[in-house]
Amino acid sequence: MASERVKTPRSLFETAVVQFERAADVISLPDQTRNILRSPKNEVIVNFPVEMDSGEVEIFRGYRIQHSNILGPFKGGMRFSPQVDLDEVKALATWMTWKTALVNVPFGGAKGGVTVDPKSYSERELQGIVRRFTHALGTNIGPEHDIPAPDMGSNAQMMVWMMDTYANSSKEFDRHSSRRVVTGKTVECGGSIGRDKATGQGVAFVLQHHVEGQGRSLIGAKVAIQGFGNVGEHTARVLSGMGAHVMAVADHTGAIISTGTPIDPEQLWAHVHDTGGVDAYPEADVATTDEFWSADVDILVPAALENQITVDRVDLINAHVMAEGANGPTTPEAEEKLTAGGMEILPDVLANAGGVAVSYFEWVQNKMSQQWDLPKVDEKLRNLMWQACDQVEDRRRYYGCTRRDAAYVVALERLQAVYDQRGIWP
Ligand code: NAD
Repeated sequence: MASERVKTPRSLFETAVVQFERAADVISLPDQTRNILRSPKNEVIVNFPVEMDSGEVEIFRGYRIQHSNILGPFKGGMRFSPQVDLDEVKALATWMTWKTALVNVPFGGAKGGVTVDPKSYSERELQGIVRRFTHALGTNIGPEHDIPAPDMGSNAQMMVWMMDTYANSSKEFDRHSSRRVVTGKTVECGGSIGRDKATGQGVAFVLQHHVEGQGRSLIGAKVAIQGFGNVGEHTARVLSGMGAHVMAVADHTGAIISTGTPIDPEQLWAHVHDTGGVDAYPEADVATTDEFWSADVDILVPAALENQITVDRVDLINAHVMAEGANGPTTPEAEEKLTAGGMEILPDVLANAGGVAVSYFEWVQNKMSQQWDLPKVDEKLRNLMWQACDQVEDRRRYYGCTRRDAAYVVALERLQAVYDQRGIWP
């Protein structure tokens, strides 16, 4: 295993609150708004039975945490992983509120998931888990209320099962419009062209804008990526297409480093598809976890789990730019140390917002019964990501704070403006 979950002094939700309070201090956010945004609005927990292939019945636990809907319907992914618990999903839901507000799409923040290892179940069993979970959530989700999407351990097929279950539980005349209860569906079932690669494409756009804005280039820049799932694989593909060189990759099976020819993402994808992971990829050298983190690269993209970049690992890292493809990969203590050492950190709420941006495009296309082509989706995504990058840089310079604080500030200023105008009713 390339990297275990690392023990940190606080829980993931506590980390999310620490980050929030720090940015709130920067703009002296009023206490009333702080108190509202410090905790999620709704916490839904469901326990539901599913019949296994053996005929036995297993009970699963699922979550849907709805953090804020002041800017629009709750929005966020559904994670299927053995580590899913209330604390993790609360943190992820909170980060979604900042992310949607930052890239200025009319959604709030939510996250959910099931505590399950999807790889341990047959396709029929997995379908049963997804459908019973959706049924158990009932009207806690809805096309104008709360809109799930894929996240770690879930994919487009699972989103289609979720959509189909919801649609078939709706009234006949609502079935078509209820397709947009979920985004990240297959294109055939109403998904947006370009949604599969959107998060990786967004990571690459943010890196391109940042690096070129500093008078440097991505061409020939050496990159290490942790995770080769949806986010890691597409980040590798898009960055390679822009001329960067992917030199190191790690996943749950191991790590690989090339000291010569850059790793070809297409060939690595074929290997991962055939064998289940990057381990033993024949075109690169096998590496240890420490060798991966200390790879001689310019750019680091954590695109797997949270809490991967801890204080202990900071001294290993050689990269000078980091784009957080994963949510919460860096602990606050590690961030402080990295920033003091000159690392430029493009925070998760900015760097991986491409997924929710194209999810929004999918929701709009469904609402208008349209299908946009890839150039249109990519262009709209680039504009939206670059605009967010510019706003973050503007706030960073104005307040002299970190890029993470600045990204939160852009989001919090938008939220505060709405609270100011709407007030608290009654
Ligand atoms: P995924 O399930 O497709 O891939 C996860 C990757 O992480 C796999 O390559 C897996 O091998 C690797 N991994 C798992 N355990 C590991 C370990 N112990 N050490 C090293 N690698 C390990 O998930 P994804 O959708 O790519 O999500 C990855 C991260 O990006 C998550 O933090 C997720 O919340 C975030 N994210 C995803 C999206 C999206 O659209 N899918 C959008 C925004 C953020």
